[in-house]
Amino acid sequence: FNVPVPTNEPVYSYAPGTKERSLLKEAIAAARATEIDIPMYIAGKEVRSDKKVKITPPHDHKHVLGYYHQGTKAHVTDAINAALAAKEDWENLAWEQRAAIFLKAAELISSKYRYKLNAATMLGQSKNPYQAEIDSACEIADFLRFNVKYMSEIYEQQPPISPKNVWNRVEQRPLEGFVFALTPFNFTAIAGNLPTSVAMMGNVVVWKPSNAQIYSANVLMEIFQEAGVPDGVINLVYVSGPDAGDVIFKHPDFAGIHFTGSTGVFQDIWKTIGENIHLYKTYPRIVGETGGKDFILAHPSADLNVLNTALVRGAFEFQGQKCSAASRAYVPKSLWKELKAMMEKDIKSFKMGGTEDFSNFINAVIDEKAFDKITKYIDRAKDSKDAEVIIGGGYDKSTGYFIEPTVIEAKTGDYETLSEELFGPVLTVYVYEDKKWAETLKLVDSTSIYALTGSIISQDRYAIAEASQALRHAAGNFYINDKCTGAVVGQQPFGGARGSGTNDKAGSMINLLRWVSPRTIKETF
Ligand code: GLU
Repeated sequence: FNVPVPTNEPVYSYAPGTKERSLLKEAIAAARATEIDIPMYIAGKEVRSDKKVKITPPHDHKHVLGYYHQGTKAHVTDAINAALAAKEDWENLAWEQRAAIFLKAAELISSKYRYKLNAATMLGQSKNPYQAEIDSACEIADFLRFNVKYMSEIYEQQPPISPKNVWNRVEQRPLEGFVFALTPFNFTAIAGNLPTSVAMMGNVVVWKPSNAQIYSANVLMEIFQEAGVPDGVINLVYVSGPDAGDVIFKHPDFAGIHFTGSTGVFQDIWKTIGENIHLYKTYPRIVGETGGKDFILAHPSADLNVLNTALVRGAFEFQGQKCSAASRAYVPKSLWKELKAMMEKDIKSFKMGGTEDFSNFINAVIDEKAFDKITKYIDRAKDSKDAEVIIGGGYDKSTGYFIEPTVIEAKTGDYETLSEELFGPVLTVYVYEDKKWAETLKLVDSTSIYALTGSIISQDRYAIAEASQALRHAAGNFYINDKCTGAVVGQQPFGGARGSGTNDKAGSMINLLRWVSPRTIKETF
């Protein structure tokens, strides 16, 4: 294919004494020293409103990083109009020209903006430097570069056959209308990927990030503009969900939504779209990645070191605020005592605190709402006869929203934290009798409504095969002898079905195909 061969962006370690470490520290210091005023971006112009909202780091909620300008329904209408006005020129641009803009954006992230983007993610979303590096800078650069390859595969695919005197071809048109990108707080890379993957295919976008990610979204927008995304192609607005929904889902030119967020919100959106379906010119594309209740299933043959690492990393990196985070584990009785001691030792060694101190592995959860939700589950487990908090369980929101990495042992297979998504640093373990392997497979499959990620840890090939088959629909990303987080773009296309989404794999051609509407053309000579 006629595009540069993508490779994954190299990941910096930020080890003590490295140049990268000092540059990142400088970027953090610079960000902390200024109170930034963050506008919306409509038709390429900075737009300010009369309502300014404070942004504070989740780990230090007394420090003001800056303010964003909260918009209204009128701003959403302006953003849609700007998108529609930009549409014709953008979709008529050759796909290679569009591709070049996004490759340039990837390059800007890799070189000029890496530290600024990571610093914004670390301060605004409370990610440690390693998670910010992997989940923000590297992953967005990867999404851009690999999606350009997938886009080329779509535009350059083999045409249908043409008999004598006929020329059959398929034209990949952009969607008719605008697309709404509604993006989450937990991955700056996902926030950047949802609007750009849509725009790349010749579409125009209204982008509403989570309120908790506006600080780094602003840096992404700066990068997209510098890379040459034309005015109006991606419009960034900060409005309430209901204000956005009232305007967008009633607009005749609404052509699709690219969503990552909670299952409940996605289901409400789907219903609203259904209610308004008669208003639209075309059936909108509905693409969403939603919740998860991701499992790690250990077989009695599991290697304990592999299992322990999968659990502590899978459950507690980024405070468990990944849709893919390991939040339920099934461990055979024969391994439990030793595993518990290993986990306890590791978890106790984790330092918790602000992101500015790079030795802190655990930072704060995103906001007060998340803190209150997660800690209520911990409190209920402390009081329950069906569960026991065996590691951690402490929390404090006086300076930041800190929750200790917590392990709950559930005594029943249907205990609430084995099925409900908490989106925080809480792992629930269910210990099963070794001989009840077959029943445990059924339990794992039936316990939650979700099916995003899952792992089997086993040294027994027969057990791996059995679990792989029994849990075929329980995870869209299935890992064998590894943690269930950390999908790498270009390596493990990411997404799940059931309550976890439409499984249109982020970072794949499947996803990009949702943003084109093919036209079949037959010409007879
Ligand atoms: N792609 C990420 C991973 O594999 C998770 C994305 C998410 O949390 O939505 O860990």
